[in-house]
Amino acid sequence: MIKLDAKIPEGQMADKWTNYIDHAKLVNPSNKRKLDIIVVGTGLAGAAAAASLAEMGYEVKNFCYQDSPRRAHSIAAQGGINAAKNYPNDGDSVYRLFYDTVKGGDYRAREANVYRLAEVSNSIIDQCVAQGIPFAREYGGLLDNRSFGGAQVSRTFYARGQTGQQLLLGAYSALSRQVKKGKVKLYTRRDMLDIVKIDGRARGIIVRNLVTGEIEKHSGHAVVLATGGYGNVFYLSTNAMGSNGSPVWQAYKRGAAMANPCFVQIHPTCIPVHGDFQSKLTLMSESLRNDGRIWVPKKKEDAIAIREGKLKPTQIKEEDRDYYLERRYPAFGNLVPRDVASRAAKERCDAGYGVGTTGLAVYLDFEEAIGRLGKSVVEARYGNLFQMYEKIVDDNPYETPMMIYPAIHYSMGGLWVDYNLMTTVPGLYALGEANFSDHGANRLGASALMQGLADGYFVIPYTIADYLADQIHVPRFTGDEPEFVQVEQEVKDRMNKLMNIKGTKSVDSFHKRLGHIMWENVGMGRNEEGLRTALAEIPKLREEFWNDVRIPGGTEEYNPELEKAGRVADFLELGELMARDALNRNESCGGHFREESQTEEGEAKRDDENFAYVAAWEYKGDNVEPELHKEQLKFEAIKLVQRNYK
Ligand SMILES: Cc1cc2nc3c(=O)[nH]c(=O)nc-3n(C[C@H](O)[C@H](O)[C@H](O)COP(=O)(O)OP(=O)(O)OC[C@H]3O[C@@H](n4cnc5c(N)ncnc54)[C@H](O)[C@@H]3O)c2cc1C
Repeated sequence: MIKLDAKIPEGQMADKWTNYIDHAKLVNPSNKRKLDIIVVGTGLAGAAAAASLAEMGYEVKNFCYQDSPRRAHSIAAQGGINAAKNYPNDGDSVYRLFYDTVKGGDYRAREANVYRLAEVSNSIIDQCVAQGIPFAREYGGLLDNRSFGGAQVSRTFYARGQTGQQLLLGAYSALSRQVKKGKVKLYTRRDMLDIVKIDGRARGIIVRNLVTGEIEKHSGHAVVLATGGYGNVFYLSTNAMGSNGSPVWQAYKRGAAMANPCFVQIHPTCIPVHGDFQSKLTLMSESLRNDGRIWVPKKKEDAIAIREGKLKPTQIKEEDRDYYLERRYPAFGNLVPRDVASRAAKERCDAGYGVGTTGLAVYLDFEEAIGRLGKSVVEARYGNLFQMYEKIVDDNPYETPMMIYPAIHYSMGGLWVDYNLMTTVPGLYALGEANFSDHGANRLGASALMQGLADGYFVIPYTIADYLADQIHVPRFTGDEPEFVQVEQEVKDRMNKLMNIKGTKSVDSFHKRLGHIMWENVGMGRNEEGLRTALAEIPKLREEFWNDVRIPGGTEEYNPELEKAGRVADFLELGELMARDALNRNESCGGHFREESQTEEGEAKRDDENFAYVAAWEYKGDNVEPELHKEQLKFEAIKLVQRNYK
């Protein structure tokens, strides 16, 4: 039975982390090299953790499924990374970043973790500058900032539209240094398939070599999961095609609580879906909302004419355009948080004002910005994004407004972790997007990179020592212990079961159908009826999958269909938990919009009396209802109020 203890340190909010550091247990240098740490993931969270832990002296084994750590999904991040440096002198502070993040998450995050995040944010920038990350600079040489949603200050550091790539190259160089020194052993093209526990503690993982098909056992004194988010449960998302929820799900099945699984982020500015055969969606960075203005036609007949191809957006006069975000939210305008902007786009499209051939699109227009700043400035800021848009849509966004629509983008939910970033399984940690911790019910733009790097560079190096200090007498594991042998056999049995189905339908066809159920019922608008439909349909689809999926090839060879099948099998379970969690949370908050719970103006209406908690689910067996545990959230530094961006 799981017991939630967030282990929040005593003291004032601003002193907690310092107090923690002052009193946490340490491991001396000669003992560190006796301890093995497994880090799964080489994205910003994983690479930062692996490099830092190795630099400190631990022996690290680092895993990813790509052929190079540099290909982790973090590389896709475009817009930037937040920090409270206050370089523009516009009133920013650690408290304000903390406040914006808690408010942006609609008061469903744990204050102490978020405060620490804001506190270490400035160190991240220093660290990255020291690594040589080419952040954009102002004319005078100071690092430049731009604005992201949910903040009235400019605190987003960026490297054109490729911030994730540049940050990942920095983390990768730190990692490579440790690989060269022999402190990190890198295992690429490995698919994690399970976790091994000995005496209740996480002691290793089972992976499949994706090139040879060989099953391998790897042991360590602690296991750190930095395996990213599970947005691909929806099939279509902005995530990398390989992003998956499997390691998180394996951890859940081995006793780690899964927190707020229904909290997923729908990003307002993505290139709209254009057909049934599409397998990927593309994000247009939120940074574009610094200068782009969002609108739809004011008159329905204009919207219809546009949809029928009889009118062009450039032919709609200024007074006939509805800049609905500026109209509804004058204080934040086009820079309202993502959940608010997404719902507002849906509302306009549902009301018949949408554009594009499907009517499921709104405009993001740079005409005014180009007039004000000149094309060259707009190009310098967003050139690569404009180029990407033009390649995909075959339309020139310097001349015609971009079309955008909300799409699944990020998972705020994830493994429940305490202040140490430890899950409910001793010795098992979760970092970055894989954990639930800092973003509540809605993540603010440019805060995921901040969190991943905070977790990896600045939090886990301290908190893991607190655990490992008691482990210095535990000898290295060999991987031949009975627990390893047993889990390895279970992994093989499951794989053989999948291969032996020999059905008629492709893995992708099931994934697509699951995505459809999820988007329709557990998507942007959720209600009891839809959620019950999802809860009825997903188990049926899962049964069909286990009876009729067809996986060509064999197990002891390169077999991407087998790889996908395992992930879709997990999504078919995770999706159900998401629907259950969404049904339980009979309130709206952030990205979780229960249609039954809205204000008269259609905004999310929280129910703090009944739902100011983290929902942490405990696995109780296949096809058995999971148990809900609640971590009651206490707000000491910030007062709970209705979110307002007007
Ligand atoms: C298009 C796009 C743009 C974005 N832009 C921004 C932005 O501008 N600013 C911002 O703050 N956030 C942004 N985000 C969000 C941000 O990029 C992610 O949340 C963040 O990079 C996640 O980092 P991570 O280290 O937690 O995981 P990831 O980068 O997803 O890395 C996961 C790692 O785990 C490994 N892994 C996963 N599953 C397995 C498995 N089964 N076996 C073995 N290894 C596994 C992978 O190989 C990989 O190395 C963006 C997201 C998208 C989709």
